[in-house]
Amino acid sequence: MSANLLLGKPIQDQLLEEVAAATNEIIEAGERPPHLTAVLVGDDPASAIYVRTKTNKCSEVGFGSEGIILPEATTTEEILEVVDRLNKDDNVDGILVQLPLPSHCDTKTVLDAVDPAKDVDCFHPHNTGLLMQGRPRFAPATPAGIIELLEREGLDISGKHAVIIGRSDIVGKPMAMLLLHRHATVTICHSRTPDLPAVCREADILVAAVGVPGLVSQDYVKPGAVVIDVGINRVADRDQAAEIMGVAANWERFDERGYLVVGDVRPDVAEVAGAMTPVPGGVGPLTIGMLLVNTLAAARTRRGVGA
Ligand code: NDP
Repeated sequence: MSANLLLGKPIQDQLLEEVAAATNEIIEAGERPPHLTAVLVGDDPASAIYVRTKTNKCSEVGFGSEGIILPEATTTEEILEVVDRLNKDDNVDGILVQLPLPSHCDTKTVLDAVDPAKDVDCFHPHNTGLLMQGRPRFAPATPAGIIELLEREGLDISGKHAVIIGRSDIVGKPMAMLLLHRHATVTICHSRTPDLPAVCREADILVAAVGVPGLVSQDYVKPGAVVIDVGINRVADRDQAAEIMGVAANWERFDERGYLVVGDVRPDVAEVAGAMTPVPGGVGPLTIGMLLVNTLAAARTRRGVGA
């Protein structure tokens, strides 16, 4: 048996097409298109790539966008001044602060300062509270993208047992809420869960959002289960990459970059699962797609356009 591969790109293409069509309608109605501003602090190359990818995708669907790049030494107060200016700027519909911020910055204070109506990442306590109550203004992009994937692939959620490994505010907890509101029975696991493989083997839908390369092996998976791999881990040790990836390792890419991007799930889980997302190419593209969906929703709600 080999799992049905759940690819994120075709779903991202659908989402982008839908957002582009809605943006066109807004422009044809004589309104300006939605606008997303991303704030990047410091010079982490991976974060810079993420921000560039997001602003490029904005252009693809006809959004306005801007990346504000601040030096590594920027203080929390200085970031708060930028966020305050963006909150007051009526031309900005969505604000995202690229994480992680440098370690001297107070991330919670910065995220709490974003106007909830422009908080397209859904990190503000007001928005997480609404999500908890099942009436989200926005849903965090990664878990919301996973729901889109499951629903558009015709995979049932209602009545299924979903097990999530990871309890972060960004992925694990909101994933649990979104699945619960779609009538799954939900178990959340973390670093202190005893006998993790046995708990995971109960899952009809297993979501790994851990950040430990190759944690989930075949003995974590019930035959036929749907396995969603959120992990994005850079493995620069050749032996470790070989041990996790087996024949699926792309050595050309390893030699080119000096590392492989590896998920939390081992590729040979495909021999047991019914369906699974690859890394890369699974969940990642959905996150960006849902960020654009949220920015469109922010523009519609704030300005009453194109609804
Ligand atoms: P966090 O580090 O915030 O959370 C990780 C969670 O995993 C914690 O709850 C932790 O438990 C749990 N955990 C860690 N080790 C183990 C273990 N050995 N057994 C069981 N549970 C464990 O990570 P994030 O949620 O932010 O991200 C998770 C992964 O997803 C990362 O690889 C990240 O890069 C990736 N990611 C991918 C995105 C995408 O678009 N594809 C978007 C966001 C994240 P505890 O709470 O007890 O410490």
